[in-house]
Amino acid sequence: MDMFKELNPSLRTLMTPGPVEAEPRVLRAMTIPIIGQFDPEFLEIMDETMQLLRMTFQTKNHWAYPIDGTSRSGLEAVLNSIIEPNDKVLVPIFGRFGHLLAEIAYRVGADVATLECEWGSAFDQDMIIAEIKRVEPKVVALVHGETSTGIMQPLDKIGRFCRDNDILFVVDAVATLAGTDFKTDEWFVDAVITGTQKCLGVPTGMAPITYNERVEKIILERRKIEQGLDITSKNPRRIQSNYFDLSQIQAYWSPTRLNHHTEATSMLYALREGLRIIHEEGLQERFERHKFHEKALVAGLEAMGLTLFGDARYKMPVVTCVNIPEGVNGDAVRSTMAKEFGVEIASTFGSLAGKIWRIGSMGFSCRKENILKVLAALEASVYRHGGKINSGEALQAALDVYEGKVVSSIK
Ligand SMILES: *Cc1c(COP(=O)(O)O)cnc(C)c1O
Repeated sequence: MDMFKELNPSLRTLMTPGPVEAEPRVLRAMTIPIIGQFDPEFLEIMDETMQLLRMTFQTKNHWAYPIDGTSRSGLEAVLNSIIEPNDKVLVPIFGRFGHLLAEIAYRVGADVATLECEWGSAFDQDMIIAEIKRVEPKVVALVHGETSTGIMQPLDKIGRFCRDNDILFVVDAVATLAGTDFKTDEWFVDAVITGTQKCLGVPTGMAPITYNERVEKIILERRKIEQGLDITSKNPRRIQSNYFDLSQIQAYWSPTRLNHHTEATSMLYALREGLRIIHEEGLQERFERHKFHEKALVAGLEAMGLTLFGDARYKMPVVTCVNIPEGVNGDAVRSTMAKEFGVEIASTFGSLAGKIWRIGSMGFSCRKENILKVLAALEASVYRHGGKINSGEALQAALDVYEGKVVSSIK
């Protein structure tokens, strides 16, 4: 085995919008020995995780459990299970992940209508409501925090309108849940999808979802158990995918314990511990922590002379997008930061590629030493690649925030 050395990757400071650093306690939970998927102790862990998820989604919904796979597995599961061929689906798009929702809906056979706004901005809710009135969709699917642009879409009015008009409202909260306030019930969201590797501070590999009775009704109408378990089960409206069939997956997460898939044991240990940490900290305290570090980060970036990208009114507190200064090669800067400092920040996609950097401050990565490290590494690297910046200001500005010398809020 000389060819394959023992795995020992370098330690990194992860300041991207995911994956972020996992909580050490979560990593320890992942080394707990495996038990069987129907072991009473494992079933109890499943039920406890559902309870912790309900608290995290701020919902009274019964259904709250993870799909095994990355965040998009949750998007696929929800959209596959509620959309039937030719159903009208409206997807307002303000970045890459809106396109992903439209793409999944399209592949499921939906009649997809989209509405786009400029990247770096969000929609006025009334504009979306006007479009809903025009299109009359069965489902509205929308991203909450658009990680590709650092922009967060207000949702409360849209949810209310959808509920009043019997339209299903599905929201991708992959990048925001547990980092900033997300009120599933209060905002009338029918189904929410999140991921583990962002504000939850858990490695990538699961997509927690929640949904209410309105969604469950459709899922039950489409219920079909696989042949090997029930030869009599037939349903012409059955969900196309087997893996993403919520009618079978929810039966696995119910006392029936239908043998659908084998739950990802170590990931469930990880998720449970990550959620426990979230509620030890407290949701409100956690949201405040993210805002506080955002303030220090932004103070540092602005003191350096850099400018932020996007409409400040809609900025995500957990992702900060920075305009790459004229004449500076953004990828060269990121590469120096990674190589010399072990600090990773992100570029972005599509029309914004090469124009902005994205700095994540999510979950366990969102802490003082990481904010100071990313500012130090960025300052040195921009300077090294010919950028004009105010040297020596950034860390002092951030430290002023940490020492309580700055009272005004950035918003
Ligand atoms: C990261 C992200 C996704 C995709 O997540 P994967 O875990 O890579 O599948 C989807 N939507 C949003 C808003 C995201 O930030």
